[in-house]
Amino acid sequence: MMHKLSITELSKGLKNKDFSSVELTKHYLDRIAVSELNSYITVTDELALSQAKDADLKIAKGKGTILTGIPYAHKDIFCTKGVKTSAGSKMLDSFISPYDATITEKFNNENMVMLGKTNMDEFAMGSSNENSYYGPVKNPWDQKRVPGGSSGGSAAAVAARIAPFATGTDTGGSIRQPASLCGITGIKPTYGRISRYGMIAYASSLDQAGPLTQTAEDAAIVLNSMSGFDDKDSTSATKETPDYTKNLGNSIKGLKIGLPREFFSEGLESDVEKVIMQSISEFEAMGAEVHEVSLPNSAYAIPTYYIVAPCECSSNLSRFDGVRYGYRCDDPKDLNDLYLRSRSEGFGDEVKRRIMIGTYALSAGYYDAYYLKAQKVRHLISEDFKKAFKSVDVIMGPVSPTTAFEIGTVKDSVSMYLADIYTLSANLAGLPGMSIPAGFSNNLPVGLQLIGNHWSEETLLNVAHQFQLQTNWHSQLPVEP
Ligand code: GLN
Repeated sequence: MMHKLSITELSKGLKNKDFSSVELTKHYLDRIAVSELNSYITVTDELALSQAKDADLKIAKGKGTILTGIPYAHKDIFCTKGVKTSAGSKMLDSFISPYDATITEKFNNENMVMLGKTNMDEFAMGSSNENSYYGPVKNPWDQKRVPGGSSGGSAAAVAARIAPFATGTDTGGSIRQPASLCGITGIKPTYGRISRYGMIAYASSLDQAGPLTQTAEDAAIVLNSMSGFDDKDSTSATKETPDYTKNLGNSIKGLKIGLPREFFSEGLESDVEKVIMQSISEFEAMGAEVHEVSLPNSAYAIPTYYIVAPCECSSNLSRFDGVRYGYRCDDPKDLNDLYLRSRSEGFGDEVKRRIMIGTYALSAGYYDAYYLKAQKVRHLISEDFKKAFKSVDVIMGPVSPTTAFEIGTVKDSVSMYLADIYTLSANLAGLPGMSIPAGFSNNLPVGLQLIGNHWSEETLLNVAHQFQLQTNWHSQLPVEP
């Protein structure tokens, strides 16, 4: 039953010698071995057991941190020295990273235990995990359904308790949306909070890492470890990292919650809306005030994002040319053939689509009409939030307009893009956003989204924690097969 424990509880258990990190790690590896969710691309059994042994030694010496000896699953977008790092792509199927991402290094310094690398949409492009070269991940609440994406493997692994927590990245919703669809907690902090060094780039001005956990308290603990300035990432913030667990006991009496009317639009499933409104009432019962706010430019979030993100990805993914990294086609006739076939064979359809859109939008003559225009609208979206945060402390609404849909049912890209309608704006504005379990609709989890002003992670985490003290949605588990 160790897998039912949160990080705080596991850490106590390790300290009190109720179990060792090796025992804990074996327990998770055994659970992974029988799981049919396809949530891991690589399971690093041997490495995990040796890391667990080291952790036990450290704990025995009375050293170590709250995370020492705690196992975790790492999204396969973070470089891990000596371990395959695929980003869910055929392009990197044989790539063994020669170095560690900054957050991998941070976790190693705390002697945490990596169970493996989780499945994801190729290069983090997708909302359902169906774009992975390694096949779709199944949602543990209903295995016919998607777990969301792109951090779907991470979310499914935490929901099924085959990892106590996992890492994710969120460019347009990829932590919050799978957290919502799998009934777990996920936070994307303010842009710049966590180093992007060694995190394979999708859209650099939007990408941000974060934890997927069982509870807000666990998220605070992991965020403490992941955050901080890194001179290897020029966009990493120099702002000091607070102790995110410190304010978890604060009362939320008088908290001003803003409900953006644009987040309760016609595409929102009525059962999802019901769950969201019930959780808002819960906050009111706890002493919070609810105000209506408006984010008038949110209607442009999808078109803006789908210019900015493809533009940046077309540039970032140009490095995969069959020469420097990853897949190379067989018997190229000449250099052009090498480039062309390596990229045609190595990338999947959605990735190619985005590279083409981005390349087109950045071409001479189109740049002003598309990219520049999108940047201007991005600014307007930021300004909307700035205005709203003058009168409220936190914005709340749905994470996703629907619950988890069936694998194979959303066939065209544009419909898939709608899955992120409520999450994209926070990325465009660089704001922190969170998803917490808020209830169920037809036995499928529904997440509540919390968006805060820049650097307000402490508030978001405390607001979420207070909700989790009053409700038990976060401790519901899917039935095991
Ligand atoms: N679903 C969005 C996309 O496909 C967001 C993905 C993400 O946040 N990585 O781009």
